[in-house]
Amino acid sequence: MTSAPSPFPGSTVIGYPRIGPDRELKRATERYWSGILDRDALRETAAGLRRDTWNGLRDAGLGSVPSNTFSYYDQMLDTALSVGAIPERFARIAEQEDPLDLLFAMARGREGIPACEMTKWFDTNYHYLVPELGPKTRLAPADRKAVDEFREAAELGVRTRPVLVGPLTFLLLAKPAEQAPADFRTLDLIGPLVEVYVDLLAELAAAGAEWVQLDEPAFAADRTPEEIALLGKVYDRLAAAPSRPRPRLLVASYFGELGPALPVLARTAVDAIGLDLVAGAADLDSVAGIPDLLGKTVLAGVVDGRNVWRTDLDAALSKATVLAGAAGRVEISTSCSLLHVPYDVDAETKLTADVTDRLAFARQKVGEVVLLGRALHEGRAAVAAEMDAARATVDRVAAAKGRDDLVRTRLAARGAGPNPPGPAAAPPPAPRPAQRQPALPTTTIGSFPQTGAIRADRAAHRAGRLDDAGYTEKMRAEIERVVRLQEKIGLDVLVHGEPERNDMVQYFAENLDGFATTEHGWVQSYGSRCVRPPILHSDVTRPKPITVEWATYAQSLSDRPVKGMLTGPVTILAWSFVRDDQPLGDTARQVGLALRDEVTDLEAAGLTIIQVDEPALRELLPLHERDREAYLAWAVDSFRMVNGAVADATQIHTHLCYSEFGEVVGAIDGLDADVTTVEAARSRMEVLAELGPGVPRALGPGIYDVHSPEVPGTDELAGQLTAARRHIGADRLWANPDCGLKTRGEPEVVAALTNLVEAVHRVRETTA
Ligand code: GLN
Ligand code: ZN
Repeated sequence: MTSAPSPFPGSTVIGYPRIGPDRELKRATERYWSGILDRDALRETAAGLRRDTWNGLRDAGLGSVPSNTFSYYDQMLDTALSVGAIPERFARIAEQEDPLDLLFAMARGREGIPACEMTKWFDTNYHYLVPELGPKTRLAPADRKAVDEFREAAELGVRTRPVLVGPLTFLLLAKPAEQAPADFRTLDLIGPLVEVYVDLLAELAAAGAEWVQLDEPAFAADRTPEEIALLGKVYDRLAAAPSRPRPRLLVASYFGELGPALPVLARTAVDAIGLDLVAGAADLDSVAGIPDLLGKTVLAGVVDGRNVWRTDLDAALSKATVLAGAAGRVEISTSCSLLHVPYDVDAETKLTADVTDRLAFARQKVGEVVLLGRALHEGRAAVAAEMDAARATVDRVAAAKGRDDLVRTRLAARGAGPNPPGPAAAPPPAPRPAQRQPALPTTTIGSFPQTGAIRADRAAHRAGRLDDAGYTEKMRAEIERVVRLQEKIGLDVLVHGEPERNDMVQYFAENLDGFATTEHGWVQSYGSRCVRPPILHSDVTRPKPITVEWATYAQSLSDRPVKGMLTGPVTILAWSFVRDDQPLGDTARQVGLALRDEVTDLEAAGLTIIQVDEPALRELLPLHERDREAYLAWAVDSFRMVNGAVADATQIHTHLCYSEFGEVVGAIDGLDADVTTVEAARSRMEVLAELGPGVPRALGPGIYDVHSPEVPGTDELAGQLTAARRHIGADRLWANPDCGLKTRGEPEVVAALTNLVEAVHRVRETTA
């Protein structure tokens, strides 16, 4: 029989933003890096942010306040440091330097010592540092971060619940160190790692921690039966019959449902389980069949930690109520850490009320959690006034939501089906001959280096210090400069350089209706880097042409073709907060329709080549295999919405910003672009083999890595081109860098592109 559940102390959140409401941590960290701030001052800023967070969460009325959710850079890196997983190349720094400098060295690299790899945290826009492990990695409790932060909070009078990345998620997201033998699997280290956690938990218990949260989001993605069985074994070891005293354990999963892992976890002796009932609402259907949950506290993650909308409180409450019928005890929580949303709606002064009324950022979401907790335990009647007021706001804004019937009619008229199918498998048709392009045409991906002067001009225009005419003049001067530069270098297909764009998504969000942009809505992307995602709140329409003026100006300057440059619908969605009141595919098609009009206008204005960037196509790929086909179908369909009406003579390019094609090869084919430029330089063209002979029509595998400041030599570039030609043949090959040049310095760019053109000339001769 199951025993009575141990009481979890009340409502909570899985985690909280840490960069600071005014990005204090970012500023302090960057000043520390540049030597302006000393270590103690940085530590003080960090301590101040932690204190404000703990006090704020406690004062807001949470029953359980998390700690150790702070990080100077990333929680996976923190975990690596806490368990002693320090790659060999950092051993000297670890021995001789301050731990903070070791942390930053692993995150950012040092002269001659490459940083740890960074990659996306599940399907979010947060990036973590990938732990590197091998058979020689000596795992042992290393720093005492979790204990220190627990004590620090306790001294301030806040009893917290330390949060750790769980051992399985840690290993599943790690990679084998370069020196590791080929048959090494990171999961091989689970035995020793669990013993480290046993020690860590004992230390936390000794410091007075009553509850500890272990995050296992890896189990919301597809896992093998062996991995799920291991989950059971690991938590049996951590929770059952401990050899050392331990706190009560909350295992939190998020970003999807636990599915088959839930009954396994429920069978272990962990005290509480956190469920994501937003992305993983499907777990609600199975809880009734898992009697072991009657012995547990289950956290109902009903407040969305990943999006910015107010919660439908009654709907959330009924989810929690369903859960309450199947669990020993239920407490309210967020679906995942609030790390992924901005701090506070109240900081926004420029948004209209019809938008702000719909929004809840981290602080507002904490309020919702607290209110729902009271409704759950005291009954809805106890908080009826607040619940009803929230309900009324939600209803009012839902009714007032920007709806555009014309967009809806146009989309409906097109029917639900896709455009006529793109080219079937091999042999691929030749690219549409937009121009008489030479063999092996040269081009770039779109942006040119953004100088301080350009940024200053944009800022001055935004602030009203530079009028429209003055701004246009500045941008035109820059466009002309970039066009002349490309002609001089000898590129075949030119770009205008994107000087008017701060960011490829924000720019379109600012120029389309249906989006709002915030002043302070910063979200951590990685380390000290933050982004301010636009908020897509209503039907999307294009009030007027967006890029046409700049593109036609650029084209008027040259006889060579200039590419019109657009950001595709999937990428616009991936880097925005999106509506959750309609399927993502419907929103994508609306964006696609707006861009289709832009394409039509660009064509009418005489542009013969148009590029639609989709760097995020792969990024948005769902965690579960079963959801992928449907995703790729709407992703492709929204892209075809953009290019589906072009004249035969118009050449469509697309740019994809990654090199692992595996899962998306079919979709790339379906985009029906004439030319696809992709990242390939870092893998030395190996990716081309993966693409196979059928896809796509013409390909521009990036022949050098724009993320490195090194200027590639002509020999190296010619070598890359020759390798690419071997794979895909001469008539389908383009020569280009592997991404936009925005973040590079002008001299490197000129040198690299000059070498690229020379390499092409050399390779063209060898074809003849
Ligand atoms: N056209 C964009 C640029 O060159 C593409 C950027 C990207 O791939 N992320 O900046
Ligand atoms: Zn790119």
